[in-house]
Amino acid sequence: MIVVLKPGLTQGELQKVIERIESFGLRAHLSEGTERTIIGAIGDERLLVDQTLESFPGVEKVVPILKPYKLVSREFQNRSSVIDVNGHKIGGKKIQVMAGPCSVESREQVLEIAMLLKDAGATFLRGGAFKPRTSPYTFQGLGKEGLSHLTHAREMSSLRIITEVLDPRDLEAVYDCTDILQIGARNMQNFKLLTEVGKLNKPVLLKRGMSATVQEFLLSAEYIAAEGNRKIILCERGIRTYETETRNTLDLSAVPLLKQLTHLPVFVDPSHGTGRWDLVAPMALAGVAAGADGLLIEVHPHPEVALSDGPQSLKPKKFLSLMNDLKKVAEAVGREL
Ligand code: PEP
Ligand code: MN
Repeated sequence: MIVVLKPGLTQGELQKVIERIESFGLRAHLSEGTERTIIGAIGDERLLVDQTLESFPGVEKVVPILKPYKLVSREFQNRSSVIDVNGHKIGGKKIQVMAGPCSVESREQVLEIAMLLKDAGATFLRGGAFKPRTSPYTFQGLGKEGLSHLTHAREMSSLRIITEVLDPRDLEAVYDCTDILQIGARNMQNFKLLTEVGKLNKPVLLKRGMSATVQEFLLSAEYIAAEGNRKIILCERGIRTYETETRNTLDLSAVPLLKQLTHLPVFVDPSHGTGRWDLVAPMALAGVAAGADGLLIEVHPHPEVALSDGPQSLKPKKFLSLMNDLKKVAEAVGREL
């Protein structure tokens, strides 16, 4: 980092700044100009970033050079990560489609959807057993019973499973029945939960918080990576803006941006990103065109009676036709479905 000093600072003030930098194991390189003096702090400055050097008398400004995240950055690893999830590669040439209902509602419901999705070419079945609902009076998910329905659907369909975990206390139960742990938008900054999934040997799909910047999103991924778990998939699912016609504003520019900043695979969730089933297919196609490695899509055979997120759920027939269109877009951008 570069520390810009105020004109007229005293020798004593300068010495204090240098001592502070050196106390973090960094080297202070002084460079005196005609107008200003600056210090180049050489070493891993991340430890110092939050350490309010700017509050020292004589310091005008601190300019960080390194990104605040490390393990998930492209600077750390230039090669794109490919995550093998029980035989399905995420982040490779193939676009992976994870689809299913917002909530697991019954044994029959998930099984019916799983079979339809399998025929349509999806590779993963999604479905929440633990649901993070905005209102405490709405359906909260079937919990452990829902997990057993997912396990049943996995056995019958051989689709891989992705399901959300809300609470570190449920991790053990969720761990066994899922191939990917989903961390939802509302928990993107639940640092305790991130730390716990970071200790596991299980892929994690981390959704972007609805008011998170790209940098905050990557720092949350860094929490997981820092504990040892590098099998992280990022998912853009829309952010809150002033727009009210859609549930969220799907930030598609985040896809190519994340691809520049990180080596982790990037997914798009056009269902939560728009909140409207009629916008899901165009945004799914756009997501793949923008470079997404996969999609997370809500599908329900009877959206009108779905216990959550019916208005943004595709009916199976629409999903099938989307899969056909996706093939063409995938090929056009050098990928396959
Ligand atoms: C979901 O996938 O059903 C969900 C709750 O998503 P998000 O965390 O993005 O709101
Ligand atoms: Mn949902």
